[in-house]
Amino acid sequence: MEKDVHTSLINRWQAAPVTSDAGTIVVIEDDPNISDLVDVYLRREGFRVVQAPDGPRGLLAVERERPRLVVLDIGLPGTVDGFEVCRRIRTDNAVPVLMLTARDTELDRILGLELGADDYVTKPFSPRELAARVKAILRRAAGPPPDPQAVISVGRVEVDVGRREARVDGAAVALATREFDLLRYLADNAGLALSRRQLLDGVWGPGWYGDERTVDVHVRQLRKKLGDALPLTTVWGVGYRLG
Ligand code: CA
Repeated sequence: MEKDVHTSLINRWQAAPVTSDAGTIVVIEDDPNISDLVDVYLRREGFRVVQAPDGPRGLLAVERERPRLVVLDIGLPGTVDGFEVCRRIRTDNAVPVLMLTARDTELDRILGLELGADDYVTKPFSPRELAARVKAILRRAAGPPPDPQAVISVGRVEVDVGRREARVDGAAVALATREFDLLRYLADNAGLALSRRQLLDGVWGPGWYGDERTVDVHVRQLRKKLGDALPLTTVWGVGYRLG
């Protein structure tokens, strides 16, 4: 028995990545084939990967590991599915979440529920593409080199670029990565009416192939979180204008 434990520890150790300085990623997925595949590809990119096979253990791992990013499958066993996991993570954590969806109907729910997921990948996906998405999200989250002086004020809202923080009347408001990026982009272009396509290109990146409703979902979140303090106008037939 003891020998088995020892052997398994050795195996684990040998399977560990040579470098893991890119940070920790928690993968919450019940299908071990998918989970292992994602694991292998992310390790190749230098990430340390912690796998969790269900919602409760996933939430525990997120709390313990403080990961840089969470890969989250929607279809999880038991009562806590991916939607619920995302909702619970978002109550107190702005960690980027990349969701794995099996069906278009799930995608509709992701968009409709306004969970604050940062991106999603539809199964079947290529693990190479998933790793690329992960890196793109983290690049965005890191943002350009911080300029401690850069605070953009629009009405009562302050967008603190250096600290990646939004404030209303001086009080910080927790935003998901993409929500902050969208607010920042709108603030950078304050006074201009921007189309949903422009916002997708500017915030999600020109290579992002997704639904324009994504913009509306994130705008709704910003309105909900920042309330009346956000001087954001819907420009009919165009898109949105801040200030
Ligand atoms: Ca699943």
